[in-house]
Amino acid sequence: MTMTSPLAAHGGTRVLNLQPPHYKWPAVTPDLDEAVRAQLHRSLSDRDSSGVIGEFESAFARFVGTPYAVSFASGTAAIHAMSRIAGLQPGDAILAPAYTFFATASPFAHDGIEVRFADADHYGNVTAATLAEKLTSAVRAVIVTHMWGNPCPMDEIVEFCRAHGLLLLEDCSHAHFATSRGRRVGTFGDMAVFSTNQKAITTGEGGVLVTSNDRYREMALLYGHYNKRCLKEIDPAAEYYPYAFTGMGLKHRITTLGAAIGVHQLDHATDTERRRRAILARYTAALAENPVIAPAVVPEAEGEHGLYVLGLRFNPENASVSRDEFVALCQAEGASEVDVPGSTRDISSEPLFARRDPFAPWTPTTPSFTGMPGVTGFADTFVKLPLWGYEGDEPFVAGYLDALAKVSAAVAR
Ligand SMILES: *Cc1c(COP(=O)(O)O)cnc(C)c1O
Repeated sequence: MTMTSPLAAHGGTRVLNLQPPHYKWPAVTPDLDEAVRAQLHRSLSDRDSSGVIGEFESAFARFVGTPYAVSFASGTAAIHAMSRIAGLQPGDAILAPAYTFFATASPFAHDGIEVRFADADHYGNVTAATLAEKLTSAVRAVIVTHMWGNPCPMDEIVEFCRAHGLLLLEDCSHAHFATSRGRRVGTFGDMAVFSTNQKAITTGEGGVLVTSNDRYREMALLYGHYNKRCLKEIDPAAEYYPYAFTGMGLKHRITTLGAAIGVHQLDHATDTERRRRAILARYTAALAENPVIAPAVVPEAEGEHGLYVLGLRFNPENASVSRDEFVALCQAEGASEVDVPGSTRDISSEPLFARRDPFAPWTPTTPSFTGMPGVTGFADTFVKLPLWGYEGDEPFVAGYLDALAKVSAAVAR
């Protein structure tokens, strides 16, 4: 790599000339292809967990290290189930991150729960202090998102919830491989959800609710499944057993093909983790002295990264260009996957949570937007790129590092 060559955007030679797509997930290997084909011939819809659905859920529970896992059609559906199972009622409130994907909070708001949005720290995460700022006597629960793979400071958040008698829910959609001070995320609270959309473990579309509480597991079955499975898996002595035939009226089953993809993903999770951790370590080391961009990765003492994407913080005071110009310069070098997130931002000011139009699904009770300095500071400087983690990724891993180094050197001041 020649640090002195002009930037591609200014007529120089591109660092990277690799054919798109530069990132594909999941990596469709011959054995994944075979696993999906085999399932195609076995069944396209399962009414109970005797087949691939049960296999996927057991593997997922083992992966997280939790007693129970219940699958859903999406992470959003699983979070909606979590909202209902938590037993929150209109008039109750929940504390949620302002900086997250909308589905962390929207299912609660749909059910008439007031969502009180909390500010973010240096990693885009809520903390006990940012949650405490929004606490009122109506608050019954907290939901956290481990943003972009970085675990929230769970010890202090668990303590905060305990001190105020609040349920603790985790949105682990970005953090499949994360730990917080040695303990796997998804095991700190009462329930947790992992989306398995295009995340570190994927089923295409899908989501999983995990819990160690048997009552919550049975209720989760009622909120996503019905009839055969519920009749078979719910204790006939349970007060809610009469609902087993219909469930709670919301059918949100994962597809068998998705579950087959998930089983394959979990079979290869150790390899995915090893490869992604190595790439993360390589980028973290290579960018350690870079004044323009710094990896957004919590210190080792705080926990292990969840390996969804590699997040970077741009330092505007050390650069002659803006964050968006920096990203455009990287893309011009051929690093097309260097990116500013599109669908994850400060959701508290989105029309869905802020406006009061008659056709909107609910009338927000949230106080109008007051500004979130932590969220703004994070969102305005954040940049992400893939962590790859499959056979054949080496040219991308090396090429993107070269592109980041070249552009950083050119714009540093
Ligand atoms: C993807 C995602 C969801 C929603 O999951 P879907 O499976 O897309 O419905 C929720 N929260 C976060 C943080 C996500 O990234």
